[in-house]
Amino acid sequence: YYRRSWSSESSDSVISSESGNTYYRVVMIGEHGVGKSTLANIFAGVHDSMDSDCDVLGEDTYERTLMVDGESATIMLLDMWENKSEEEWIQDHCMQVGDAYLIVYSITDQASFEKASELRIQLRRARQTEDIPIILVGNKSDLVRCREVSVSEGRACAVVFDCKFIETSAAVQHNVKELFEGIVRQVRLRRDSKEK
Ligand code: GDP
Ligand code: MG
Repeated sequence: YYRRSWSSESSDSVISSESGNTYYRVVMIGEHGVGKSTLANIFAGVHDSMDSDCDVLGEDTYERTLMVDGESATIMLLDMWENKSEEEWIQDHCMQVGDAYLIVYSITDQASFEKASELRIQLRRARQTEDIPIILVGNKSDLVRCREVSVSEGRACAVVFDCKFIETSAAVQHNVKELFEGIVRQVRLRRDSKEK
């Protein structure tokens, strides 16, 4: 039942298997250079701080099963926002296919923070009727001396945009695991409230 109620009608990406495992398509979007691919590589286990295996499904798609709160969830992570061919349809596609989104900016780059707001608006426009789980991600938190966006600005923006907020550092792997667990929890919260 809930499969239909919270994924777009054209998408059947959220599948509940007999084992209770669920599949979530998580899309990363954000300005060039903010650290999306570095975060994706950590997810993929290149630097292995997470404890399960990952399948690399293509140069920009990764799949990994996580245990979150005693329940397993498989995330398919899409890092194709900045496709080299710059074809517009890829970004349109990204806006349509996600079950959840990570909007990433760099705390050292005010322009990337402003871009994050633009992307939130674009996403709202693309998926008007849906309550899509989103985490606003302020990456590069290790670069304290170059900070241009404060924690409170990030948090305030997330309140306005009705999404969660986290600061991460892909470089020192701070809060990265928490980020991916967080997005699973956000999807589940919506699922559980729909089931009632
Ligand atoms: P993308 O364009 O969003 O995919 O960004 P990349 O993942 O390619 O990262 C751009 C640059 O920022 C690379 O040189 C990364 O090594 C660097 N970078 C990414 N994340 C961090 C971080 O958390 N801290 C620091 N200091 N550098 C980072
Ligand atoms: Mg990249």
